[in-house]
Amino acid sequence: MRDVIVAANWKMHTTPADAGELAVTIASRTVAAGVTRVICPPFVALAAVRDALVASEAGSDVGVGAQTVHHELAGAFTGEISATMLAGLATWVIVGHSERRRDAGETDALIGRKLGRAIDAGLRPILCVGEQLAEREAGAAIPIVDAQVRGALAEVDLAAAARASLVIAYEPVWAIGTGRNARGADAAAMADAIRVSLSAVGWPDGAADVPILYGGSVTSANIGEFLAEPAIDGALVGGASLKPDEMAGIVARAGLTARARTTQR
Ligand code: PEP
Repeated sequence: MRDVIVAANWKMHTTPADAGELAVTIASRTVAAGVTRVICPPFVALAAVRDALVASEAGSDVGVGAQTVHHELAGAFTGEISATMLAGLATWVIVGHSERRRDAGETDALIGRKLGRAIDAGLRPILCVGEQLAEREAGAAIPIVDAQVRGALAEVDLAAAARASLVIAYEPVWAIGTGRNARGADAAAMADAIRVSLSAVGWPDGAADVPILYGGSVTSANIGEFLAEPAIDGALVGGASLKPDEMAGIVARAGLTARARTTQR
């Protein structure tokens, strides 16, 4: 069975001065056997979070991730951060978040290049995909996400992506930061569709080994609806991930799913 993963996307919140303490507080409130925990702070707080977690009792197994990465390894790209620069700072990276598609104009092809650099550098990527509200209302959610998956993976070495244990986060854009979440059944249907897309591009075994997370206004109150779906393997959490009480509830619920999966093995 696939691992259960809860990843925190802190977006443009926290500073190097306060991020370490928040990370340790969250780590100590979210100890749950079988749950892979990841914290993705802003670039400038990566070192502080890494150091604080390593020095803490509960946080040494919490993964640290970046929120994006550049599609080249070095060069004249002012203000950018490459995958090789993340060595020692992060072991995970979010790629293709909808806020970067929206604000930085990231296309599926560019996201694919980022994925390639991340994989080459030994980072574990979380590839974000998801439709706009109008696309869902038009009945086009699955083809849109299918195109995103295919577009991002078109130039990626699938064997290398499998070795890097690629994770996909299904994040309907209309659910991100809006307080309006998808229904569990719809998220599960999309997870099934994503595995069909992965199979179609050549991922072996029906992509049964690829974890698929749900993201979009996840809270401790609604996480159960998503984790009740066997196709969903955890959550990418934005706003609620800055609140230790919320993270405690989310990861505690994830721990129940992890335990149930272990007994099924
Ligand atoms: C996200 O940033 O990936 C996200 C899902 O945000 P939120 O949980 O705030 O909707």
